[in-house]
This record gives sequence, C-alpha cells and structure tokens, in this order.
Amino acid sequence: IWLEAQANLKKVLTGQTFSTWIEPLKFLGNTDEAIILEVPSSFFQKYVIEKYLGMIREAISAVSPKSYQIEFQIVEPKPEPAAEPEPKPAKEEKKEKDKDKKSEFIPNLNPKYTFESFVCGASNQFAYAASQAVANKPATNYNPLFIYGGVGLGKTHLVNAIGNQILAKNPKAKICYYSSEKFMNEMINSLRYKKMDEFRNKFRKMDLLLIDDIQFMAGKEATQEEFFHTFNALYESHKQIVVTSDKFPKDIPGLEERLRSRFEWGLIADIQPPNVETKVAILKKKSDQHQVNIPDDVALFLAEGATSNIRELEGMLIRLEAFASLTGNEITLSMAREVMKDIIVEKTKEITVEMIQKQVAEHFRIKVSELKSDKRIKTLVVPRQIAIYICRELTKSSFPEIGEKFGGKDHSTIIHSVRKIEKQLSSDPDLKSTVEDIKKKLFM
Ligand code: ADP
Ligand code: MG
Repeated sequence: IWLEAQANLKKVLTGQTFSTWIEPLKFLGNTDEAIILEVPSSFFQKYVIEKYLGMIREAISAVSPKSYQIEFQIVEPKPEPAAEPEPKPAKEEKKEKDKDKKSEFIPNLNPKYTFESFVCGASNQFAYAASQAVANKPATNYNPLFIYGGVGLGKTHLVNAIGNQILAKNPKAKICYYSSEKFMNEMINSLRYKKMDEFRNKFRKMDLLLIDDIQFMAGKEATQEEFFHTFNALYESHKQIVVTSDKFPKDIPGLEERLRSRFEWGLIADIQPPNVETKVAILKKKSDQHQVNIPDDVALFLAEGATSNIRELEGMLIRLEAFASLTGNEITLSMAREVMKDIIVEKTKEITVEMIQKQVAEHFRIKVSELKSDKRIKTLVVPRQIAIYICRELTKSSFPEIGEKFGGKDHSTIIHSVRKIEKQLSSDPDLKSTVEDIKKKLFM
C-alpha cells in the first residue's frame, strides 16, 4: 500500500518536495488500524505531520479500501517526553498494568535533554551548576533542589539532564520524572482503583524523584497532601528530590505552607531570561543538532527578534530550516526576514543607506565620499557594489532612491551592481563572508 501511495504522491508533489519529505519515509509495517512509517528525526516528523499528513492520508485512502491512521517512528526510538497529554483514565489503567509487568520504574526521561545539549550562560549558570552538583552527588548537599524560572527557559531540560546523567552512571538507579499533573492523575487513579498502597510504595522506593511544574499542584489539597508524605519519606531516607516551578516558592498561590517551607530547606536556584549571546549560542547548538548551518547574521537576527522563551526561539529555527529545505536554498538573512516577517515585527534595528555606507567604508578603509563617487578604480568599485547590494537587501529603498544616495547614479547602474554581487556570491566564498561580516556588524 505504501509504495503505491508513495508513487501517487510523487505525481502530485514537486520532485524536490517529494525527495526531501516523502521518499525518506520508510514503511515499517502496519497493524489493523495504522501504518507505521519511519522518519529520520523528530524535526522531520513534526514537519511532515504539519505539512503533508493530510496528503499522505489521502494517498493511502486512494489505494486502500480501509482507512488507516498514520504513525511515525523516529529512527532512534525515544520515549515520549512527559509533557505529552495524559492518556484517558481507562487506558491509563491498562498501561499501568503493562508497566507493572516490566518494571515499576519507568524513568520517563527525554534522552535529548542532557547537560551536553544545554547551553550554559549567565542567565542559567546557577541552576546549571546546582543541577550538575546534584547529578554528581545526589542527596548530599542540595536536597531538595528547587529550580524556578519563566516558561521555556529550560527547567524541564535541566531536570531531565539530572536524571539522564545519573542513569548513565548507574543504569539501575530508580529514577522517575513526573509532571505534577501526572503525579496527580496517577494518584487519582490509584485512589479510584484502591491501589493507594501500591502507589505509595512505588514512590517510596525511588532513588531520585523529579517533579516538574509544581505550581500546578496549587490549590489541589489532596495532591499536595500526598506529595508532602512522599516528600518526607524520600527525604528521610536520604533520597534526592528535584522540583521545578515557574515561581519562587513564596509566590506560588495556593501552595501549602508546610510544602513551601520544605522547599526552602534545600537549594533554590533561578533561571533568568537569556541574553542575546546565550540565545545565539543556543541557536548554533540546535542548528548543529539538526545538521543545518545558520549564518551568524541570521542567528543574531533571530536572537534579537525573539522573546526570551527558548521554545519559541527553537520554533523559529525549525520554521526557517523547513523553509530553506523546501525551497532548496541556503539560509540567508533576507530569507529569515521574509520567513519571520509576521513573527518578528520590526523589532530589528532599522538599517539605513547611510549606516551601510559608513560600515562598508570602514570595512575597506576608504572614505564614504569615495564610495559615493564615480571613480572607477577597482578598490572602489567592488566596495561600492557591495554597499549597493546590501542597501537593496537590508533597506526598503528603491533603486532610484539608492542611486540618489550614491551621488546620483542612475537606476541601471544600481541594478547592475546588485546583479553582479548576487551572481558572484554563489561562487565566491570570500565575497560571501565579507558581505556577511558587514551585515553582522550593522546589526550590532
Ligand atoms: P521550561 O520547562 O522551563 O518551560 P524547557 O526545558 O521545556 O523549558 O525548554 C524549552 C526548550 O528550550 C527545550 O527544547 C529546551 O531544550 C530548550 N532550551 C532551554 N534552555 C536551553 C539551553 N540553555 N540550552 C539549550 N536548549 C535550551
Ligand atoms: Mg517545562
């Protein structure tokens, strides 16, 4: 079925799209309800689902009388991150039973979230160091460890990194990562099916308990009560507890005083919004992971335009990478501006023709007046063309407007310069890096 469907998709999609996004999908097998396809990465999967799932479904229903779900499996299978929506209670119960057969302790960690993949900067240094200390020597100095910070600043990443590191050193360690909601749901199910003892015992046997987003327990008294007892039991038997929250313990409304005071027994570490340099470093790291090269000026553009939420920053990067890959072009600043135009709303510095002239003149150690002149010596012609090209790329000025500001040159001279540089850029890496350099400085 898949081969037939694939052949049909080939007919309707452009060659580029087909070979980029459809061809790499490998048929792994099917069940009664679903067709399972292998994808090379989670990024790939996300993109295919967003853009082509509908088409794939249609292509399959065109060649098969039965309707199938499409499921994707990433080449290296990884456990679902815990932040996924909770399964329905009925299902949950079934899953619980399956779980019991294998092991009581599903660490539930996201293997991608490690210390290696975390960029340490001024804003998260303290939380990073504290997390490493805990991962290296659990339950010695900092127990509990309480990490707080705004949305998308890396709390979930850090607690997973602690778990992954401990597990890497000691695969038998009994580690569990729980979102507060999951803790609550499991507790409610245990209550409903009269398995509270089992629930309690399980938690009390753990070596490391990671509880993410404790603020969601606010106002849920029974959950807090249960967590309080779990906390005490673990703490008394010298087991490490790590808790995250979007707020400082005192600022979480509806959190019981006795829990709050326990959090203050240990170490409280904050994560602040990242500065631009850290954001650039994160973008570089993520794009390396995706094996995509993003030029410095583009990274800077995204970092400056983004909010401090790193998840959003990553979203921008993925969008840009997808666009580049779909159009078969390399990522450039002008592409980034185009793709992000609805997201980054003119937060960027307004670049003027005069700024560009000054920067280019400085770069080539010539005078702005020489740049504007009509002198046709090579040491001036090339910088002039580069300046004109950048003006066209980074300002909204028209050809005549640019000509006007370059000593009254006519329209065709300007067009000629732009074309000339455009053409050379693809074959001349030196020129390319010169242009990128100048653009980067313009945005600093
Ligand atoms: P939070 O739990 O604080 O809302 P997450 O831990 O889910 O935030 O982080 C959001 C995204 O940003 C994740 O994909 C994470 O990998 C990434 N991220 C956050 N901080 C960093 C960092 N310092 N280095 C690398 N990636 C980061
Ligand atoms: Mg989180």
